[in-house]
Amino acid sequence: MSRVLVFRELPVDQLARLQAVHEVTVADPRKPDQRAAYDAALAEVEGLIGSSFKIDIAQAPRLKVVSSISVGVDNYDLAALKARGILLCHTPGVLTETTADTIFALIMAASRRLVELAQHVREGHWDKNIGEDLFGWDVHGKTLGVLGFGRIGQAVARRAALGFGMPVRYYSRRAVEVPGLEGKAQHGSLDEVLAGSDIIALTLPLSEDTRGLIGAREFALMRPGAIFVNGARGAIVQEDALLAALDSGHLRAAGLDVFATEPLPLDSPLRSHPKLTALPHIGSATHETRHRMAVLATDNLLAALAGRTPPAVYSL
Ligand code: NAP
Repeated sequence: MSRVLVFRELPVDQLARLQAVHEVTVADPRKPDQRAAYDAALAEVEGLIGSSFKIDIAQAPRLKVVSSISVGVDNYDLAALKARGILLCHTPGVLTETTADTIFALIMAASRRLVELAQHVREGHWDKNIGEDLFGWDVHGKTLGVLGFGRIGQAVARRAALGFGMPVRYYSRRAVEVPGLEGKAQHGSLDEVLAGSDIIALTLPLSEDTRGLIGAREFALMRPGAIFVNGARGAIVQEDALLAALDSGHLRAAGLDVFATEPLPLDSPLRSHPKLTALPHIGSATHETRHRMAVLATDNLLAALAGRTPPAVYSL
């Protein structure tokens, strides 16, 4: 039996799997009334499971494994984990299609002004046929640029190329052959993809290489009237530069699921910009996918604490 700290809510069936074999503390450090319990448990535990919180592993001297309920691992100090030989597990694959759905929903919402027009109806302004001032922009047939061409980027590209007849260009460190997308997705440099696309979808991981990667220079390279969508991590984008590109009219619209600071501060101009569709980081947030993520994260933790190889280890 090991000591385990659950630092974000787990579905009851997965919590029960852990409690059947380990001594489990549930404490969410984001909730002020649970912070002390979190700090006390961190000092004792061998295993951690949760997400969306920066853990100070210096406070966890007995830690052997961190099981993140996420695919992105930007919240963790990878060098410190590696130096101490702590295993990091994550949940790749099980959220790919759901996150691609979210990114495609943002593409559709930004291009066809869905949120703005639904609001128009809801607020009682639909008293005559809409005019050109409220028309949208076609998605089908446009060129999609995908930044980062891993699991999620490829899933977005499949939707675009196979469902919407969109030529795809992508930026990644190497060219990849994706079954079903032969001849439909063209590899290029970052600048080539930015300059050669109508709609840009960001799916890169946040790392020291990608932090702040998309700034004023990159927005200026995008085609006039382009649409920019971020379904990856907020800190990859310089948000001031994005706002400037929207305000100047260079970008037509943007859709963001993620932000440098989450939840978005109440006074953030990103909350209410008329050309911006903002979502509260819902990339993987469906009942089915969040449960699949919890199952995989629990499988990872149970395997690691039993001395077996977990199904999804992040390679440090
Ligand atoms: P993945 O399969 O690892 O794909 C990442 C891709 O980015 C790979 O093609 C990788 O290619 C490329 N890449 C990495 N660093 C790069 C760099 N510096 N320059 C160019 N290309 C680079 O990951 P995934 O499952 O698709 O997930 C991607 C990210 O989405 C996650 O890291 C996470 O932050 C985010 N995400 C967000 C949500 C949400 O709720 N909005 C949900 C899930 C995931 P190479 O390494 O081969 O070059």
